[in-house]
Amino acid sequence: MESFRYPFGKSTPDFGQVATVIPSIQWLRMPLPFVLNHVNLWLIEDSDGWSCIDTGVTWDRGKAIWETVLETYPLTRQIVTHCHPDHVGLSGWLQQKTGAPLWMTQGEYLSALAHINQTGNCSIPAMLALFKHHGLDDTRLAALRQRGNAMKAGCPVLPDTYHVMREGDQIAIGRHRWEVITGFGHAYEHAAFYCADRHILISGDMLLPSISTNVPVAACCPDGNPLKDFLDSLQKFRKLPDSTLVLPSHGRPFIGIRERVDFLEQHHKNRCDLVLDLCRQPQTAYSIMLPLFERDITDAHQCQFAMGEAIAHLNYLEQQSLIVRIEEGGIFHYLRK
Ligand SMILES: [Zn+2]
Repeated sequence: MESFRYPFGKSTPDFGQVATVIPSIQWLRMPLPFVLNHVNLWLIEDSDGWSCIDTGVTWDRGKAIWETVLETYPLTRQIVTHCHPDHVGLSGWLQQKTGAPLWMTQGEYLSALAHINQTGNCSIPAMLALFKHHGLDDTRLAALRQRGNAMKAGCPVLPDTYHVMREGDQIAIGRHRWEVITGFGHAYEHAAFYCADRHILISGDMLLPSISTNVPVAACCPDGNPLKDFLDSLQKFRKLPDSTLVLPSHGRPFIGIRERVDFLEQHHKNRCDLVLDLCRQPQTAYSIMLPLFERDITDAHQCQFAMGEAIAHLNYLEQQSLIVRIEEGGIFHYLRK
């Protein structure tokens, strides 16, 4: 097994700068206006320009960076891994500016639309209702309410049309083909891309080197099991050659897929063991959030991730019949069986 390593060391391009990863693949490290301070975009040489993987969130600095980058890298296509605003955010603006069409999976495109337009339970009020059932306190609920629709703020315009990508599709970009590998648990139908010719995986948010991917339960699917979906999806990456160079959306390129997958599996097992231990006494998602994340979470953005993931661990254990849910006064409590 390859040991986990960063083949390019500690070096990263400055924000907004483009660096060559290997010939015909450029790394654009795009800054973000929130805690997760950057997202990696990849520019891949195409037959008559460049295809980008992901676009960055909508804000003036992101647009200004693209204005400069486009002078050297004319876009032919925008290929987007998933619906979160740091990935799809500037796709509408880029399409208007360059005409480059959007490629996305159906699950991601439609859920982006639903969240932007607050359709059904893909809405802030539905999320607040879910978190209230799971015991979140009034102060944090108020902060989330006040934050409003972060999806629309980060992605005000989505292209009206898209080209659909499906599991196993082989996308030709320049001289190479990239296979679409769908993944679940982080978003609705996340697309990663594997180039067998070059042993390169563009992993999006599904496989990150230094932070664990957020696996949230969403209000539109309150009994979903995203932790199981995520762990199952990781098995697809395990099958790739261990020498594969992984280009993640956050952090630095790395080698050592299997060691990283092992680590993530152990990480979630440890968290499940902790939740099981805590559930000797009745717990809510909110009451396990602090011990699970080992810090107090007051920032609304982080709170949304943490609550969604706390519920995901409870759903995972409940669906294995290891804990039971008891409703009391409209609040869900969980107890070990
Ligand atoms: Zn994401």
